[in-house]
Formats: sequence, structure tokens, C-alpha cells
Amino acid sequence: MGTGWVWHELYGWHDTGKAAGFMTGPGLQPFGHFESPESKTRFASLVEVSGMLDHLVRVPARPATEADLLRVHAEEHLASMREQSADPRGGDMGDGLSPFGHGGYDIARWAAGGTMAAVRAVLGGQVENAYALVRPPGHHAVPERGMGFCMFANIGVAIRYAQAELGLRRVAVVDWDVHHGNGTEAVFAADPDVLTVSLHQDGNFPPDSGTIGDRGQGDGYGSALNVPLPAGSGRGAYLHAMDRVVLPAVRAFHPELVMVASGFDSANGDPLGRMMLTSGVYAEMTRRLMDLAGELCGGRLVISHEGGYSPVYVPFCGLAVLETLTGHKTGVDDPYEPIWSRWPGQELADHQRAVVDAVAELLAEVPRPTLSDR
Ligand SMILES: [Zn+2]
Repeated sequence: MGTGWVWHELYGWHDTGKAAGFMTGPGLQPFGHFESPESKTRFASLVEVSGMLDHLVRVPARPATEADLLRVHAEEHLASMREQSADPRGGDMGDGLSPFGHGGYDIARWAAGGTMAAVRAVLGGQVENAYALVRPPGHHAVPERGMGFCMFANIGVAIRYAQAELGLRRVAVVDWDVHHGNGTEAVFAADPDVLTVSLHQDGNFPPDSGTIGDRGQGDGYGSALNVPLPAGSGRGAYLHAMDRVVLPAVRAFHPELVMVASGFDSANGDPLGRMMLTSGVYAEMTRRLMDLAGELCGGRLVISHEGGYSPVYVPFCGLAVLETLTGHKTGVDDPYEPIWSRWPGQELADHQRAVVDAVAELLAEVPRPTLSDR
């Protein structure tokens, strides 16, 4: 079995307009929106030019249906997106910072459908693991509205689809995007069958979200874990968080599928984050999650693309993840890795360790499977 690959040309056609970063207004000369096509289309281009494409199994995407979206989202949100999408001037996903062009609703349905297709291919045994390079991203979208450049909760929609139609129940979602995976967490906050673990930059986005005390609700209490790492965290902090929190939490939870919300905005040089990761660290995190999925659930691992706003560096991070998933080295090396991996600050610092170790204290409350689940 190989590694599945989801990409569709339409994902590059989602139009975020001419914002200066993510702002428009007086004094702001129109430029480009940070959530531009380039970081993703250049990733897809590098996959082809490096020869990686020949080592992947193409998984065709299909648009999510309205019934698929309604398993997660409110009818009012769909109606609003449909209506604004029909306007030639486009609209906004819900927070005034997340524009989309004419027809953007349909592209977002293809994005959610791309993640669904990756899950379907892995659960159906066509591939062992998969990477869905979809756009717009999904991990900030909450059931009632879009936000943070996300219209629909791609991972949430895919999990609810697989639970409804493919017999899946227990899923663990690991989010390494630099921002809190608040949307994924909100979808499953009260659901003890879905564990969400978010590693993110403390206080970045959304504001006041993803604190250590943010643990899920009701029956789902304990099924949300947040590791708000201090700005400036690098390889040492992230691998400590993987080893002390992510791996033991997922192992205790014992899922049938592991998913990753893969944002490369936790990489060095990203305009929206202040972390220091290099492509090699994403490869190391991928290796750990592959081994864990192999131990727990037949290797079933689905990675769905989220943020990452450096058009130059995102492609190298993505290629490193794919080289790890496939075991195939393309020979195209990340030219920044030897420089950035040696920067002071990559090693674990005491104030970073303190945050991770505080979250590790909470692992006893991660829901365990009952005997009938095993
Ligand atoms: Zn992000």
C-alpha cells in the first residue's frame, strides 16, 4: 500500500483578493492576502518537479454535499456562504478577515470533499496513509460560521462522514499549525470519541483561545488537549511536546485513525507565526505519528493541509512530510534546513518545558476506550 495524494487545480483558484496581509482600509495599499494560492500551488508544483508525484497514489477529490456539511455546520452558515458566493464580488467567511471570490462556496466544498476522499481511501485500504493538500483550510471554522481563512471544518466534516457512512468511531486529531485548532476542537468538544490535540503559539489566533485549561465539555471533557507553546519555540520544544503529550495521549486514547491538521506556519520565516521549525522537524513529527499509527491502528494516518504562508518555504516542509510518508527520498534538499536548524533557540528551553510538562499532568483524563471498543 502506498501514500495517497489529494490535490485539485481548483484549490488554487480560491480568491482571497488584494488585502495588505489580511487587512484593507485607509492607508493600506492593496497588495496580496497572506492566504494566497502560492504556498499551496508551489507545494503541488514541487511535488511534481521533484518526482515525488510518481511515488504517490492520486486520490480523486469530490465536492462535499450539503448533507455532508450539515453533519457539522448550521444551515444558516451554508445559506450565507451560498448566497455570497453567487455574488460576482464574492463575500466573507464570517469574521471580516476571510474573503472569498465568486464561486468560493463550491471550491470550499471541494476542499472538505478532498479531506473526505483521503479518509475514504485510507479506511478502504487503497492506501496506508494520505496527504490532502486542500484549500481553503478548515481548522478555524466553527459550526456556526467561518473564520481565520476557513469556510468549512474540512477535518470535522471528513470525520463525521466516516462515522456516519464508513463505520469509523474513534479518531485522534493532532494539529501542528501555529494557530489554535479551535474549529476542530469546537466540533468535537463534547464528543469523547474524538481526541483533539493542538500544538500552537500561545495567544496567537484566535485571541484567548487554546489555553491549557481548555479541555472539552460535558461528556467530552478531557478529550481536548492544548499545548500553548511560547513564541520562539523550535525543534526541542515541539519534539518534547510530541514525546511528553501527543504520543502518550493518542496511545491512551487508542484511535482507529490518526489525523493531522498540517499547518506549516509553525515554520521559521512564516509571516503569521513566530516559531522556528524547519522541514526536518515536520519529517521527525511525521515519523513519530506514522510509528504510533502503526502501533495502534494499522498505520492509518490522514494529513489535511491547513495554514502556512511562506510561498518559498511551505513547499519544502510539505515535501519533507511526503518523503517520510512514502519512504522515498527525491534528492531535492531544503536549502534552508542547514542554516535555520543551527540557529540558537532550537533546543528546548526551561520555560517551554514548563508548559509542556503542565499539559502532561492532564493525560490521566484523556478518555480511554472501553473493553468493547478494543
Ligand atoms: Zn495557521
